Amino acid sequence: MVVDNKNSSNIIDLSDSLQQKETEIELLQETFTEIGSELDLEKIFRIVSERAMDLINAETLLIPLLDDNCETYTYRGGAGKNADEIVGESLPLEYGVCGWVWKQKKPWWQGMLDELSDDEKNCWEQEAGNMILVPLQGRRHFLGGIAGLNKKDGTRFDKKDLNMLQLFASIVSIAIENAMAVKSIEDSHELNEGYRYKLEGLNKQLIESSKELEYLSLYDSVTALPNRSLFYDRLSRDIAEAEENNSIIGILLIDIDSFKDINDTLGHDHGDSLLNKIAHRFNDEVKSNETLARLGGDEFIVVLPDHNQKHVIKRAEMFINCLREAFAIEDNTIIVNASVGVAVYPEHGVSISNLLSHADFAMYEAKNSNVKICVYDSDKDHLAQGHLAMVADARKALDEKQFELHYQPKISAQSGQVVSAEALGRWYCKDRGNVPPNIFIRVLEQNGMIDEYTYWAIETALAQAKEWKSGYSIMRVAVNLSPQTLMHPDFKEKIDQIIKGESDGELLTFEITENLFLSEFDRLAEVLEHICSLGVELSIDDYGTGYSSLSRLRRLPVSELKIDQTFIKEMVDNKDDQAVVHSTIELAHNLGLSVVAEGVENKSALDMLTRLGCDTIQGYLISRPMSSEKFNLFIEEQ
Ligand code: C2E
Ligand code: MG
Ligand code: MG
Repeated sequence: MVVDNKNSSNIIDLSDSLQQKETEIELLQETFTEIGSELDLEKIFRIVSERAMDLINAETLLIPLLDDNCETYTYRGGAGKNADEIVGESLPLEYGVCGWVWKQKKPWWQGMLDELSDDEKNCWEQEAGNMILVPLQGRRHFLGGIAGLNKKDGTRFDKKDLNMLQLFASIVSIAIENAMAVKSIEDSHELNEGYRYKLEGLNKQLIESSKELEYLSLYDSVTALPNRSLFYDRLSRDIAEAEENNSIIGILLIDIDSFKDINDTLGHDHGDSLLNKIAHRFNDEVKSNETLARLGGDEFIVVLPDHNQKHVIKRAEMFINCLREAFAIEDNTIIVNASVGVAVYPEHGVSISNLLSHADFAMYEAKNSNVKICVYDSDKDHLAQGHLAMVADARKALDEKQFELHYQPKISAQSGQVVSAEALGRWYCKDRGNVPPNIFIRVLEQNGMIDEYTYWAIETALAQAKEWKSGYSIMRVAVNLSPQTLMHPDFKEKIDQIIKGESDGELLTFEITENLFLSEFDRLAEVLEHICSLGVELSIDDYGTGYSSLSRLRRLPVSELKIDQTFIKEMVDNKDDQAVVHSTIELAHNLGLSVVAEGVENKSALDMLTRLGCDTIQGYLISRPMSSEKFNLFIEEQ
């Protein structure tokens, strides 16, 4: 048999190339199976790089892809020599062979050099002669390319390599595009998660601040106690329960006495801090099913479920007693008293507003009658027409000059002669009857009418004193001054307008309360000096109930001290009161002050006071306050 050599070598070549084709097809198939369902982009880059490297027998394989910004491309995957250093690098779109491929959308391989102009050829030949780069074209976008650098056997990439790599690129581009789409979905999902997380954070913040808002709307900022709204809420809940169980509820309305003076003289900050301390003491008295709330100003309210009248009074006493110990505010020691009005559900009312207004009425009763606790009594309630109506009536009384002054004589303990008189406000209201000064002065003070009233009172008292001066003798008339009016910036100017006659001032005394001594000392001293310069005398009223400091008293131009009637009333039988009265008289005399005892109701008190050296006596024993006509008769009789 004759063997054709040429033929046999052809057959060997053919079977080699068939063998290689098979390997290549196998590799392509494997790659396709491996990445066809793969969605992890990094893994796809790795597989594609390794397979492509084997396919074209390259030393290095790289996958440059266009970036989202459309201005740069980045080597996203790679295998072989130096790939680690290159992967991750970004370059401008125009740069190098890649730039050429992006622009031409054609593959680059050495055969390309023949198509270039001489200039271009020179430029690219060295740099890119041993490189092959085929475009990666996705279904929707141009993705980038697959590049091989240097063949492992030192030869150059040929047309076959180009064809293989192009085929390979067309197969893997879809998988890469899919995985990139999935990646971008995942990225935006992550972004969404981030937003969701942020949103949750914001939501939390929102909940926090709405909680804070809710707190502010239900709690009082000064005392941290429930405010009026929360109190309404709690009481209506308690009333509903009491209605169902047929039980009762006690309500205490607690009002701090003279708090306005404290506020006016101490300043609002200190006033607030005192309120806060008071609230703390009250809070210690409250049990878990009870509500303590601040209604506003110096008013507190306590709701006591399951309490009958007797229990409520006991509890009210506890609230009063917890104030006994003095409060320290800055350098001042402050004694706080309170008055409590009591109303009981359902006996005194079934609605909140009814119960509140009745507790309020009882509280005013307590203030007015000098007892600390008063239970609502409907028989006395003919005056109760609501606070607002009272304010309107007081305004009307000022406009229509319904107020009057009555005069109570002060006599010399030694001679028994009338030495002066105190002017006391009186108001007969057609609808309310006689409204006591303790009540209407408070209403005037709290509603901006006290200045007008006081200037009227000073004018009226001065006119009266002038009349007495021309009739009988020179006699000072004392007018009570609210701290608010005295410390008003316009006070000096106003008083100059009223006391303008040469010796007018010598006909007046101003009674001021001890609480004034808490005011800004220099300003107070200046105002008092000015009053004195007009010839008016100054007297400290209700001495012993307030907050005066004797060291300060000494430095102010005060000439008289009136011991409060609470000490005088029981001094005959009460050794403690006697001691207070005795030492006050001594002390006052040492400071050069004369002493008045108010509220002298019986002869034994008068005798004791005379013995102790008291200078002046005022009280029902001598006379009740009376109209000017009656006062004239009284003097004539004397
Ligand atoms: P005050 O200035 O301490 O006046 C003395 C109060 O004690 C008067 O009560 C007087 O009637 C009463 N009183 C006098 N002697 C006796 C007594 O022997 N026994 C008893 N139980 N009471 C006696 P009133 O007139 O009810 O005045 C109460 C308070 O109202 C006054 O206390 C004063 O703080 C205030 N007030 C009265 N009129 C005015 C005014 O025109 N302006 C100001 N700012 N306050 C006034
Ligand atoms: Mg007085
Ligand atoms: Mg007094």
